[in-house]
Amino acid sequence: MSDDFYNILGVSKTASQDEIKKAYRELALKYHPDRNSGKDAEEKFKKINEAYAVLGNEDKRKQYDAYGPERFNQQYSEEDIFRGFNINDIFKDMGFNIDFGNGRFSYGENARGNDIIYRMRLSFMESAKGVDKAIEVKHIGKCTNCSGSGGEPGSKVVKCNICRGSGSVRRVVNTFFGAMQTVTTCNECGGAGSFFEKKCKECRGKGGVYKTEKVDVKIPPGVKDGMRLRLEEMGDYSKHGSGSIYIDIAVTKDETFEREGDNIYTTFKVPFYTAIIGGDIEVPTLDGVKKISISPGTQNNSEIKLKNQGIRRLGTQSYGDEIVTLEIDIPKTITKQEEDLIKQFKDIHGASPKDKKKFNIF
Ligand SMILES: [Zn+2]
Ligand SMILES: [Zn+2]
Repeated sequence: MSDDFYNILGVSKTASQDEIKKAYRELALKYHPDRNSGKDAEEKFKKINEAYAVLGNEDKRKQYDAYGPERFNQQYSEEDIFRGFNINDIFKDMGFNIDFGNGRFSYGENARGNDIIYRMRLSFMESAKGVDKAIEVKHIGKCTNCSGSGGEPGSKVVKCNICRGSGSVRRVVNTFFGAMQTVTTCNECGGAGSFFEKKCKECRGKGGVYKTEKVDVKIPPGVKDGMRLRLEEMGDYSKHGSGSIYIDIAVTKDETFEREGDNIYTTFKVPFYTAIIGGDIEVPTLDGVKKISISPGTQNNSEIKLKNQGIRRLGTQSYGDEIVTLEIDIPKTITKQEEDLIKQFKDIHGASPKDKKKFNIF
């Protein structure tokens, strides 16, 4: 059977993914329509891609092996076969820098545009405070020549002869239960009921062209590591509904703050004398340093909670807290004079316990 995907790629049924990939690569380059003209090459190229779209994907290949060519073709539409198959990505993957442009091959002509996943790394501060980012995406963007309509500007819109403008065609199918009438989308006009007399020169009627575009992204305050944001309609353009861009957020660890839920944690070294007699310290917060006073007699590892100084809860006006752990800082070196003073302190402190002031430890 010549239409068997294995025959098309010229590989055995037990071929490894590497062998399949290699065979595809050779054939795709050989029959690439940029190097061959005529309907035959184009048809052949399409078949090669179809075969690879299935055999190059373990899941689809399993289905194909289980069903056999005939039943597989009945079961799956061209759209199913090419779902998730982006020829530009595949060629880039193989190390070719070939841009297939767009619209030359009508894979899934009536399909919605593909989604795009974009990985974004944010600093801790950016995730806490939110940030505006301009990202560059390579995608199928709206064609500027035809504003995405697919028709050459000024071209007349003509009614589809096949479906007489209804966008759908009736077909009679013979089944076990007798002849049944089915209604399917008209292939000629893609369900629109009409089409442009002249297709747009830039996008060849598809309405979208492959390009790199800047997209402004507003990251809201409070996003977390591992979160996924969605920008609707910003993925691959299609007349039948554009895909989305999914932004996967990764947050770089911070040297000062650690996050747990919407609370943030930090440690602060307090000079031992301030810990003993109390005083002001300047601790880091998300809004810069903040002066707070600590009580006399502050103990090592005691915590101070700064209400509402944590991370803004996503999509709300409320905030988590900041928890500062105080570490008593003992100097590693001191001068002779300081040493004398400490000795003096020691002598006095060790003496009569009668008139000692008691600190209120919090
Ligand atoms: Zn166009
Ligand atoms: Zn039609």
